[in-house]
Amino acid sequence: MSGLTDLTIAGARAGLDSGDFSARELAQAHIDAMAQHKALNAFITETPERALADADASDARRAKGESAGPMDGVPIAMKDLFCTEGVRSTAGSHILEPFVPPYESTVSGKLKAGGSVMLGKANLDEFAMGSANITSYFGPVTNPWVAGGGDNRQRVPGGSSGGSAAAVAARIAIAATGTDTGGSIRQPASFCGIVGLKPTYGRCSRWGIVAFASSLDQAGPMTRTVEDAATMLQVMAGHDPKDSTSAPYDTPNFAEKLRAGVKGLKIGVPKEYRVDGMPAEIDRIWHQGADWLRAQGADVVEISLPHTKYALPTYYIIAPAEASSNLARYDGVRYGLRVPGKDLKEMYENTRAEGFGAEVKRRIMIGTYVLSAGYYDAYYLKAQKVRSLILRDFTQAFEQVDAILTPTAPSAAFALGEKQDDPVQMYLNDVFTVPASMAGLPAISVPGGLSDEGLPLGLHLIGKPFDEVTLVQVAQALEEAAGFSARPAGY
Ligand code: GLN
Repeated sequence: MSGLTDLTIAGARAGLDSGDFSARELAQAHIDAMAQHKALNAFITETPERALADADASDARRAKGESAGPMDGVPIAMKDLFCTEGVRSTAGSHILEPFVPPYESTVSGKLKAGGSVMLGKANLDEFAMGSANITSYFGPVTNPWVAGGGDNRQRVPGGSSGGSAAAVAARIAIAATGTDTGGSIRQPASFCGIVGLKPTYGRCSRWGIVAFASSLDQAGPMTRTVEDAATMLQVMAGHDPKDSTSAPYDTPNFAEKLRAGVKGLKIGVPKEYRVDGMPAEIDRIWHQGADWLRAQGADVVEISLPHTKYALPTYYIIAPAEASSNLARYDGVRYGLRVPGKDLKEMYENTRAEGFGAEVKRRIMIGTYVLSAGYYDAYYLKAQKVRSLILRDFTQAFEQVDAILTPTAPSAAFALGEKQDDPVQMYLNDVFTVPASMAGLPAISVPGGLSDEGLPLGLHLIGKPFDEVTLVQVAQALEEAAGFSARPAGY
C-alpha cells in the first residue's frame, strides 16, 4: 500500500526530477487506485485517457529539461464545480448532467498550464450545497475512514467537496481542488484527515466555477500536507481580469515562512466558539492545539468575537439569496437538461422541477423569500449589516493577534443517514467555518488527531486578509506538533 500513491506533491516532484519514475507511471498508479476504489463514488466522471495524455506531455517536457512548475506531472482530482473544456462538468446536479463546457475555468486552467495531471471530476454536493456529500445527484461519497470499536457504519466524507477529500485521503489523488462557501474545503478535510485551505476571498479567480453564493465562493487546495497546500495554492492563485472580485495583488510566496516556527506569534482563542453541547473530544483537541502552539513559543490569548453567534443564521440568509439569483440561469434554454412542456413557462417549470434536488429547491425558496419585496429589509439587508459586524469583530481581533485557533467542525464524520431529516442539524456542521467565510478571511484545517472512535479531527486556523503566509506558517507548526500519521485502513 506504499509507493507511488503515498507521495506528497513535494515527494512526487523530487522523484520525477531525479528520474525515479515517470509522470506516466505515477498517473497509472493513481488510475489503478481510482479503479480499485470505485465503491467510494469519489468521482462523477473519470478521465484516465486525459490523465495519461497530460502525463506524457509532462514527461516530454522533462525530457527536454523544461518544467511547467511545481505541480508538473502531479495527479489531481478536480471538484466537478470547475468547468473543464471538453470534459463534462455537472456541479453534482441532474440539471447540468449533460453539460460539456466549451471553456476552462481560470483555476483549472492554471493547474493544467502548470502541468498537473487530471484524473477526473470529483463528486460533490449538488451545487456545493451540503455538509455530507449526500445531496449529489450522482449518489453519496463514502468516507474511506471507518470507526473503531465495531461501529462499522459507513461515514460521510463531509461536504460539499466530499469526493475531493475522499480521493486524497484514499490515496487516489495526491491533491484535489475544492471550493468553500461556508466550509466546504475545511469541513471535509477535517472529516477525512487531510489539509484543506480556503484562501482569502479574491485570491483565486471564480471565473468558470459554477456559482453558488458569489460573495462567499472561493477555490482552494486539498492536500495531505500543509507544504503541499502552499505549493498548490501558488499554482491556483492570482489576479484575473475576468473576475471583477479577483484581488489585483501580486501572489506572494506562500511557503516563504513555512518553517519559521511560531515563536513570538500571538494566537487568539475566541471564547464564543465554546458553544453549548460541544463534545468533550472536540474541546480536548482544541486545547491540545493551543498547548502545542504555546509549547513552540507562541503567545496564546483569549479573544472575543461577539457577533460570531449570528454568523450561521445570517449565512443561511445570504447564501440562499445569492444562490436563488445564480441558479435562475438554469432554465432549460441555455445549459444542460431540458424537459419539454406545452409552452415556454411549462418547459421552465418542468426542467427546474426535475433538474434540481430537494436541498437546492429548499435554498431557492429561502433565497427568493428573503429577497422578496417586504422581506428584503427584514432579512437580507439586516443580514448584510450583521455581516459587517462579524467582519469588524475579526478586524479588531487581528489588531491583537496573528491568527485564530478553533476546532474545524463540532464532530467527527457522522454516519450516512444521520442528520439527514433535519436541515438545521446539517447546517450546524458549519458553525466554526462560516464566520471566516462571512468575513472573507483565509482559513485552513489541519489534522489534529483522532476521536474516541478513531476518526480524524481537524484544527482550524483563521488568518488576516491576504496573509496566507502566516496562516501556512502556523499551520505547519500545528502539523509538526500533531504528527498525524494515521490513515484509513486498507488505503
Ligand atoms: N455546508 C454549507 C452549505 O451547505 C457550506 C457549503 C459550501 O461551503 N459550499 O451551504
